[in-house]
Amino acid sequence: MSEQRVPILVYHHVYPDDMLATCESLSGIIGQSEFQRQMEYIAQEGWQVISMTAVLDWLTRKRVVPDRAVAMNFDNGWLDTRTVTMPIMQEFGMKATCYVITDGLEAASAGRSQSVRTQTEGVVERPFMDWDHARELLDANWEIGAHTATHCKMTDKHAAGGDQAVLWEIETSNAIIEKRLGLAVDHFAYPSGSRSIRIDELLAPYYRSLRLWHCEFPIQWSFTDHATSRLAIDCQNVDARVSFEDFKRIFTDAQELQ
Ligand SMILES: [Zn+2]
Repeated sequence: MSEQRVPILVYHHVYPDDMLATCESLSGIIGQSEFQRQMEYIAQEGWQVISMTAVLDWLTRKRVVPDRAVAMNFDNGWLDTRTVTMPIMQEFGMKATCYVITDGLEAASAGRSQSVRTQTEGVVERPFMDWDHARELLDANWEIGAHTATHCKMTDKHAAGGDQAVLWEIETSNAIIEKRLGLAVDHFAYPSGSRSIRIDELLAPYYRSLRLWHCEFPIQWSFTDHATSRLAIDCQNVDARVSFEDFKRIFTDAQELQ
């Protein structure tokens, strides 16, 4: 059906519930039991989790996907994606795409910590997964996507250093992912959703898809459908600030709009 809409859910951290009390802000963070409740809802309502490759095949009309298809994204490559999220997803027979910051995984693999600037949490120094963890995600049929080397805002990078600076970010991150995982990455997510038409043009030859990121309150869900450009894949940011009612609305809206 041409009017089909596919929700793409973006998460950052999934933490054990007792860790939530220690978090100053819940931006970019959700507790394990709330996350489990959401995955239960998806499964019970008959939604099937598909990969970003399947989303792109559907978008380019190479493949039909189930009427109730949803994609799951986890940004940055945080350690908890491997230790907390992946086992929960496995329980439900679900897989996801993890968009990794290569500087973070390089640091973790060398036993160092790495601070990054994020839209959700500000400047933070939290544990990243290492490349062995990323390999374990691949072994569990997850996909690995690119998310730059340093998690810079691409528009800032372009303003400071022009096209070359932007290309350095993606060529560096692609080369490291290829070296560590033997993988050519197909999918890219813009850190903090920071992009421009010029940057889209620069990145278009490198990736099959460029994913946006945005987060606004009150929540307004928007969807990826056949009118969506592969250079502007839309998504829903989900964290503990999203009520369960609003979460369910992602799926009822996606169906009602069809
Ligand atoms: Zn990010």
